[in-house]
Amino acid sequence: MSPSGKIAPIFGTPTTADRASRLVSVVIPVYNESANLRALWSRLKPVLEGTGRPWEVILIDDGSRDDSLEILRTIAEGEAGRVRIVELARNFGQHSAILAGFRQVRGEVVVTLDADLQNPPEEIPRLLEAIDAGNDVVGGWREDRHDESWRRHASHLHNRLTSLVVGVPMHDYGCMLRAYRRAITDTVVECDEKAAFIPALANSFARRVTEIRVAHSARAGGESKYNLLRLATLSLNLITGFSFLPIQLVSLTGIAIFILSLVFALVLFAHRIIYGPQQEGAMWTLFALLFMLVGTLFLGLALQGEYTGRIYMEVRHRPTYIVRKIHGAGDDGDPAADETRD
Ligand code: UDP
Ligand code: MG
Repeated sequence: MSPSGKIAPIFGTPTTADRASRLVSVVIPVYNESANLRALWSRLKPVLEGTGRPWEVILIDDGSRDDSLEILRTIAEGEAGRVRIVELARNFGQHSAILAGFRQVRGEVVVTLDADLQNPPEEIPRLLEAIDAGNDVVGGWREDRHDESWRRHASHLHNRLTSLVVGVPMHDYGCMLRAYRRAITDTVVECDEKAAFIPALANSFARRVTEIRVAHSARAGGESKYNLLRLATLSLNLITGFSFLPIQLVSLTGIAIFILSLVFALVLFAHRIIYGPQQEGAMWTLFALLFMLVGTLFLGLALQGEYTGRIYMEVRHRPTYIVRKIHGAGDDGDPAADETRD
């Protein structure tokens, strides 16, 4: 509550009292990270205590096959409800695990973090400051990245592509050291997408997004869970989840083939008028017809794709718009009051 006694708007700049009372929820997906969990907790807890704010940590065991779950339960035991473990039935992937965590959060600000200590927990206070400054989403930007070089190159391409399809340019969409206002994570949860790419989805619902440079380390222990195939699947989720670009490229190819074949047919016709019938003329005419047919097929395919895409847009139930607040309505009749969480 703000000093005036009125409910503070979710997207306004908070006062010092607001800040101190805001529960921070930290969400961490865990898959076979037994080598890192104790070190993670010994660094994360002092950082959270140091913020002076109430906090909770939600760790999602994403079907680990090592003893991650046992370690997590031991950590939670000593924390009297401040640490909760969500145990998934099997491995569903990092983004699905984070979504499972988002469903459980009670805080006003939600921070995500990897469990392998590649994202230093010590950066969390800076993320919180950026949220306090009025941003809805704060992304970490790993300028000096400690990953293999093929990952860095793939990531560069991925960031360009994501910025293009989402329409919110960012240097580092892959960094999971991020902070979100609760309204944003709730909307992401409501979408209930089967193949969500969280940073992109969250950005598409945010008004103010910023990026801050964060440190990055090599993995403390264990190995990366991402191979080329998993990364490619993630990129494909992203492109198909945000744009019809692939199918539109098919349309453009179809149109180009069709136009070229028309030009080709006209040239053949002019040739026949000027030079009379040629021996190999029939073959070229067949070619022109074939190209026209191929162009028409491409166009038909693309048209089907456009309809399928529109059906897909309907079934995935992403909100068309989100009302943040209705101004000028009394407190009692304010339909947005439920959405106002300060
Ligand atoms: N992770 C997960 N489920 C998976 C893959 C990864 O929960 O199927 C977690 C993993 O334990 C780590 C984070 O997601 O906390 C990032 O994974 P990783 O370090 O393997 O990715 P990279 O840093 O190589 O991109
Ligand atoms: Mg990692």
